[in-house]
Amino acid sequence: MTVAEKSARRFAKETPLGKTRRARKINRILAEVYPNAKCELDFETPFQLLIATVLSAQTTDIRVNAVTPGLFAAFPDAHALAVANLGEVEELIRSTGFYRAKARNIVKLANDLVDDYDGEVPRTMEELVKLAGVGRKTANVVLGNAFDTPGITVDTHMGRLARRFGWTTETDPVKAEEDIAALFPTKELTLLSHRVIFHGRRICHSRKPACGACPLMALCPSFGIGELDPAKAETMLKYEMAPLA
Ligand code: SF4
Repeated sequence: MTVAEKSARRFAKETPLGKTRRARKINRILAEVYPNAKCELDFETPFQLLIATVLSAQTTDIRVNAVTPGLFAAFPDAHALAVANLGEVEELIRSTGFYRAKARNIVKLANDLVDDYDGEVPRTMEELVKLAGVGRKTANVVLGNAFDTPGITVDTHMGRLARRFGWTTETDPVKAEEDIAALFPTKELTLLSHRVIFHGRRICHSRKPACGACPLMALCPSFGIGELDPAKAETMLKYEMAPLA
């Protein structure tokens, strides 16, 4: 039996209470490991966060943070962006990829904000998801980080790690969000999202997680799906945890 099979077997008969306790313990450990976990997109207003989150699709927060100062200097609010020249917006956000579609989306989004909310960003999930190009993931980022309304952000990292942790089996983000949220007090959800996303970016990688260097190894039903050798796993860590950082 492989290490991964043994890990899965250890948690196969876990009770719902056991799963909740283990999930909260994982959250506590992640809080210790990533005390500075936060939204990695730079923003000063809810409008800026909303636009930055839309731009972050299919790219990294670092790339988005590189273009938003120029974008917001030219178009500081929804009223300015709503009447922007599309070509100018495209040039400013070009390096984030899919820049033509993204430029169209954010200008349309700015128009929705001006038409329906006098240029302000609405504060409810129901209103946010009706805006052009805004889904639950984007809405939860804005609600949790600009308006202090906690929510789970099921991006690629959260979805992958929640399944590895056994918190959900769902690949549908809305169903996964419900399963994950049921395990934690609501007030924890935004910070939990940041911590899990930090862990996914630094240690629990998509293709080959660094299991041998993971602080969650004793609590993870997927321990063993990645590199087990501690020395090799150390070399796989990213960002500030990277060996030469
Ligand atoms: S790195 Fe391995 S042990 Fe750690 S959370 Fe990911 S799958 Fe589990």
